[in-house]
Amino acid sequence: MNIRVLCRKSKKKVLLEAMAAFCVKQLNLEKSRYTLWVLSKNDLVSDLHADGVCFHGPNDIAICIDSSLTGLSKYTTFAHEMIHAKQIARGVLKMGRIGRRGIMSWRGQEVKAMAYEERPWEAQAFREQGKLAADLHTFISRNTK
Ligand SMILES: [Zn+2]
Repeated sequence: MNIRVLCRKSKKKVLLEAMAAFCVKQLNLEKSRYTLWVLSKNDLVSDLHADGVCFHGPNDIAICIDSSLTGLSKYTTFAHEMIHAKQIARGVLKMGRIGRRGIMSWRGQEVKAMAYEERPWEAQAFREQGKLAADLHTFISRNTK
């Protein structure tokens, strides 16, 4: 998996690159053919009512996290979105579009309208984000001064 971080501030870019590389390794995605794009955006929370988002095309996966996040919430949001990146890279979660209609599939089954809290990919991400975020936090703390 190639990693591309889009960020103007060089210190932040280095941090996001380290976070992405760590998660790619932990999630065993190094051999994935997808390119992972990482962005940090102002006001994502007010624009989308989310701390982070993940979306994809045929060859690319993008994750975006709110730039105002700090401390553990930054690692937790990043880990959560990286778990979605893994679901996409493995072909388990697919998000697409037919005309104006957004379509999603989970484990080969098309998912019709489903409440956020019932989505199995969210349940899995919430289940697995804690350990990945804690490991990520430890890794970054040890490798940055
Ligand atoms: Zn999610």
